[in-house]
Amino acid sequence: MVSLSSGSAGSIAALFLAFALGFLATTLWLRFRLAHSEAQTALREAEIERLRDEIWQARESEERYRGLIEGQNDLILRRDPNDRIVYANPAFLEAAGSDEPVTGRCFSLKSIHTGEVLLTADGARSFDQEIETGRGTRWISWLETMVREPDGRMLRQSVGRDITERRRSEEALAGAQRKAEAASAAKSRFLATVSHELRTPLSGITGMADLLLDTGLTPEQATYARAVKSSGESLLFLIDEILDFSKIESGKLELVQENFDLTALVEGVAELLAPRAQGKGIEIASFIAPRTPRLLRGDLARLRQILLNLAGNAVKFTTQGGVGITVSISAEGRTVFKVTDTGEGISTNRQARIFEEFEHGEGTGAGAGLGLAISRRLAEMMGGSLGVDSAPGEGATFTADIPLVAVKGEPQPQRCFPAGSRALVVARSPFEAPYLCEKLRELGFDVDQAVDASHGLAVLAASPAPLLLVADAAIGEEAARALAGRATEAGTTLRIMLLSPFERRQFGPPAAFGFDSYLVKPIRERSLRSRLVEPIALAPSGNSRSLDAKRTVGHSPFRVLLAEDDEVNALLATRLLEREGAEVDRHHDGLSALEAAVSAMEGKGPAYNFALLDIRMPGLDGHEVARRIRKEEARLRHPPLRLVALTANALQEDRAMALAAGFDVFLVKPVVREDLSRLFAPDTAKSKVA
Ligand code: ADP
Repeated sequence: MVSLSSGSAGSIAALFLAFALGFLATTLWLRFRLAHSEAQTALREAEIERLRDEIWQARESEERYRGLIEGQNDLILRRDPNDRIVYANPAFLEAAGSDEPVTGRCFSLKSIHTGEVLLTADGARSFDQEIETGRGTRWISWLETMVREPDGRMLRQSVGRDITERRRSEEALAGAQRKAEAASAAKSRFLATVSHELRTPLSGITGMADLLLDTGLTPEQATYARAVKSSGESLLFLIDEILDFSKIESGKLELVQENFDLTALVEGVAELLAPRAQGKGIEIASFIAPRTPRLLRGDLARLRQILLNLAGNAVKFTTQGGVGITVSISAEGRTVFKVTDTGEGISTNRQARIFEEFEHGEGTGAGAGLGLAISRRLAEMMGGSLGVDSAPGEGATFTADIPLVAVKGEPQPQRCFPAGSRALVVARSPFEAPYLCEKLRELGFDVDQAVDASHGLAVLAASPAPLLLVADAAIGEEAARALAGRATEAGTTLRIMLLSPFERRQFGPPAAFGFDSYLVKPIRERSLRSRLVEPIALAPSGNSRSLDAKRTVGHSPFRVLLAEDDEVNALLATRLLEREGAEVDRHHDGLSALEAAVSAMEGKGPAYNFALLDIRMPGLDGHEVARRIRKEEARLRHPPLRLVALTANALQEDRAMALAAGFDVFLVKPVVREDLSRLFAPDTAKSKVA
């Protein structure tokens, strides 16, 4: 205690101090804890606030998203793997038209038609579906994908867009297209039928006019008959043009590929138009440039049609001068046909329009204004082009530039005369004379051209005599005689006169004027060569190309079986066949013709050399008669009778159908004498006449 008492004061003090310190520490600790817990509370509150904010934001975004989905016109729904609907938006509910809730059920829209299901690379499915809704039928285009829920479940989500309006306009468009196609097919059929119906009576008109012209008519009557014939022919030409145009329009026109001779094509066109040109006092001539391949591959008939149209127009719109047709080869190897005239020309603003259909100049006379439109389309179908270069009063040049394949292995033309051989051409002509000079240069001549007799005489006087003199009869009888005389004196060995067929009749034999021979304009290359190269001989004065020469058809009578229901056409065919020396057995219908053919085969009646069968007949038509005749021949082991189809349908498919039915030859009405007389020629006995 002493120690206690002695040290008690200190101990108490120490104890007190310890207590005080402890108290202080406790207070401090408590204060610290309090402060800490206050801070913690504040922090928690902030956190709560933040989380509240987040929840609020999430809710707002969810609301917005839901609003977006629910405000959609698209149908949206999700199904679980058991096909139960987990979610459907209001658009879907509206389409479903159901008052019952659909969630949790296996519910489907009423489908009328479901289109083809397409699968995309990412596994989505899409298809169109026509559904029945409370507001009528609708077309929905669905896109289905698999989506994963936050809880890991896989749901099938379908989003459907209403495409009813689009489908309806597509259907309307398709309907309109179908109608247009049907109308176009009906138009083509109509044109083909009308053209057929027109051709039959027209062939009667032209054919009868032809027969009439061969009877003893007064000059006045002959003029009228010729007018009937030429009007009929113009009408026929027009029908062909309209038919061609409709074929091109409907894409039915098919080009053929065949080998053909360019010279024959071009010269043939010039010759065909020569009477018309010469009748108007203008010339027509053709020239094929050196190095142009002569044997080509292409659609000969359609090329001829283009050239005839261009050259025909050129003749029509030219009153003085003439028309020249040239062919050359371009640097790209295309065949370039040019038809040049010295006519009225075409103004620049008309130049583009003339290639449009039904476009023709005012007061230009007949013509549907289809020729150039058809020609341009044909040239384009051949991979080429057709254009014009012209100015009013300066003539026109139409150029058809066409890629045609040259057939290999054609012989190259040879020069026939040694270099330095001279020729003098005396002619005033815009095309024939320069073309002739070029042709002579190709043959090896040095050529002088004089435009009239005095110019020609001056050339003769100024230089040594040419080997060859060519003088156009158009310079006049006296001038020609004088030139020939002077040239003969000077030592010219060959004198040729150029004549039109009309002048040929007027002038008489060229020898009377001091000439060795003559060439008919437009000059054919082959004739020129033969006049120059072959021994010089005076040509016979008779017209070797006369169509009036009567054909003999052998000793026994040539018998023809004719089946034709139309009286006029039957009479026409009978007369034409009789002119060829044939005996005609005419039948009014297919059945009676078939019976006649079969009894001839069985030896019960006279044999026929060929049968001419109209395609369109009441009862058995021509095709059926042909098929049955072929069948009977096979049965009786009888050699085939030559069957000739007679039709007013000029379409390619008609031709093919006739050949398939067993016909050998296909003739299009109006039947002309040349077509029929070809049937009697032995070399065409097996060939297919167009
Ligand atoms: P069509 O000759 O039937 O009227 P085309 O289509 O062949 O129809 O010609 C259309 C028009 O182009 C002609 O009417 C004429 O006005 C003009 N034309 C054609 N070729 C020539 C030409 N060589 N010279 C002047 N005009 C021409």
